[in-house]
Amino acid sequence: MRQFAIIGLGRFGSSIASTLYSLGYDVLAIDKNEERVEDISDRVTHAVQADATDEAAIRTLGLRNFDVAVVTIGNDIQASIMVTMLCKELGIPKVLAKAQGDLHAKVLLKVGADRVVFPERDMGVRVAHNLVSSSIVDFIELSDDYSLVELSVWPEWVDKNLQELEMRVKYGINVLAIRHGSSINVSPRSDDVIREGDVLVAIGSNQNIKRLEAHNQ
Ligand code: ATP
Repeated sequence: MRQFAIIGLGRFGSSIASTLYSLGYDVLAIDKNEERVEDISDRVTHAVQADATDEAAIRTLGLRNFDVAVVTIGNDIQASIMVTMLCKELGIPKVLAKAQGDLHAKVLLKVGADRVVFPERDMGVRVAHNLVSSSIVDFIELSDDYSLVELSVWPEWVDKNLQELEMRVKYGINVLAIRHGSSINVSPRSDDVIREGDVLVAIGSNQNIKRLEAHNQ
């Protein structure tokens, strides 16, 4: 079973740690703040108070045996960079780090982070898309050019099947799934009919998604 170390127990780090634990994974949660460690102690496998920039302390915790480290130290950029570098030096195969901005992200990647995330920025983008369009339920940017969206169906789509709707031709998006209440059709066929209240999960270029948003403002 994969073992995860989460370093920095702010809201983001704590949420990752307790979710992984509830999914059945082995989770070591580390923070230099005793209170934060105590708060999470019954929602992870082990919770330890330590300054993660202290190489000796990190070695004692046996971090090199972990498969994944998530560095979720936010405001102390210097600490986040040092800890990310230490994790890679210890040989942890996958190190994911949270960045405050582009320059921080660049440095994290330079010191070896395998992946960098921007939770506040990404959530801001998702919420903004949801705000400007009544039909965009959720939005996930996959790259600078493509995104995944959840779209509530437009009245003119109701009772038509995917072939009739010609989503790819008309709107330049590919429908990957249709959500109907709590059930989800993950491999929709061209003759599957859209019902009122359904949500379509689709992938498309950001340009085409922008056009969809503009249509339903
Ligand atoms: P969030 O937005 O996720 O709540 P944040 O961006 O405000 O978090 P911080 O509060 O700056 O992030 O950092 C997250 C946690 O990282 C804090 O609980 C802090 O104690 C911890 N932390 C900071 N430096 C270290 C360190 N050197 N070793 C261990 N933990 C650290």
